[in-house]
Amino acid sequence: MQLTKTNFIQFLKCPESLWLLKNKPQDYPHGETSLFLEKLVQEGYEVEEYAQQLFEGGLDLSGNKNANYTSDKLKEEYQYFFQPTFVTSKGALAIIDILEKNDDGTYTIYEVKSSTSIHTDSKHNHLKDACFQKYVMTECGYTIDKVHIIYLNKEFVKNGDIDPSELLIVEDVTDKVNAIYSETVNEINGALKFINQAAQPTQCSCVKNTRSNHCDAFDYFNDIPEHSIYELNGIRAKKIHELTDLGVIDIKDVPSNVDLTERQRLQVDSLLGQAPMINKIEIKNALENLEFPLHFIDYETFPTAIPKVDGLSPHQHLTFQVSIHTMNKNGDITHFEYLSEVMELPVKMLQQMQNFTGVEGTFISWYAAFETGRNNDMMRMHPEFQPYLNYINNHMFDLEKLFFTSYVDYRFQGRTSIKYVLPILEPKFSYSELEIQNGTMALDTWGRLMLQPQSFEDAAAVRKHLLEYCKLDTLAMVKIYQQLKNL
Ligand code: SF4
Repeated sequence: MQLTKTNFIQFLKCPESLWLLKNKPQDYPHGETSLFLEKLVQEGYEVEEYAQQLFEGGLDLSGNKNANYTSDKLKEEYQYFFQPTFVTSKGALAIIDILEKNDDGTYTIYEVKSSTSIHTDSKHNHLKDACFQKYVMTECGYTIDKVHIIYLNKEFVKNGDIDPSELLIVEDVTDKVNAIYSETVNEINGALKFINQAAQPTQCSCVKNTRSNHCDAFDYFNDIPEHSIYELNGIRAKKIHELTDLGVIDIKDVPSNVDLTERQRLQVDSLLGQAPMINKIEIKNALENLEFPLHFIDYETFPTAIPKVDGLSPHQHLTFQVSIHTMNKNGDITHFEYLSEVMELPVKMLQQMQNFTGVEGTFISWYAAFETGRNNDMMRMHPEFQPYLNYINNHMFDLEKLFFTSYVDYRFQGRTSIKYVLPILEPKFSYSELEIQNGTMALDTWGRLMLQPQSFEDAAAVRKHLLEYCKLDTLAMVKIYQQLKNL
């Protein structure tokens, strides 16, 4: 069975999950984030194309993933090779991003990353990636002299054509890789042994871990009730250990003497009482302080590894869409929307927004840190809008926060995202009827509409779908606000 670098990284996170993927791929659940992952993969290719420009005259071997083909081609008079393939006798497979053949017969490996730094955290360790590549080539009989990681320069700001030597940083990580090499080789051997074992692992250690650590295979390995302790908001692994040691997995079985946060206890009480736990006084006080008109606001943004517009840096968000529902004191509501027709900085959007809202009232968003963060970005790029954007940030109310402890319903599953709250409070207003159902779909669709318009038969319909999605985000806030007002 083959073990790729991606498989190895998955093994380091969780051996059981990799075993399932390799041995029972038909049972391996692929989550809902595939669109997002696809975007990351595409961005990786794009960064790699720029990296290849640093190595003039390289031979592209990406069209043939046969290791024998690579070994033949390495004998030819090229200095650089793109995407050569190597496989060890035990099945470890490496496709090297860029390989340099040195005059003394040794090789230098270049790993390309679309991040703006070298990650060494437990979720993703780029040095382990590089170690894996070195191990495979070494096992295949090649001598590796140096290992480099190429990544994006976060200080880079696009201004016209992109110069790869300014966009990218090439860092020599040979010593760092050597320092963890033998430990990584042991892990690779462990991974190869584990995936080739016939017996299915029966245990999944995440039963003792928090929800953010669970992979898509969690439900495959575990029999979990509809509302489990993993839904308890902000629950820590220590508390999960305490509860599972007591044999408690279902929220309704949590004993009353177990110490929980206020929010977690409200969740338990809500489930036991089959009703939301609402603190009407807190909600009333918070809403009474809001100054009219109320502007319910939501942005959609397009972050890209390689900046597409002058003035942007790698991974910086380009705000391309806004929806605002404005409510006057008498309850009248008007709507403003803007969807960029070209990939450009949002000057026109800001101008029209300001004309619509004026510099008055309260701005309301859901998870306000996102909107205020984008306003801070736009302030830096367009100082002429600083007074307006500062006003918005200083008069921003986060509607989501009322759902931390003032309004808790077990049916939110411990989450406070509007996608969980809206269907419970306003079942008529659903995202499931929309062509575009979440922010990832919105940014992906708009990005393709701008960069590959030929892939859409009906661009006008796509624009309509984008507008409908963003409009529902702010209309949903209006409906939730009205419900809270009427408690
Ligand atoms: S839920 Fe956790 S332990 Fe279980 S398979 Fe997934 S990552 Fe591994």
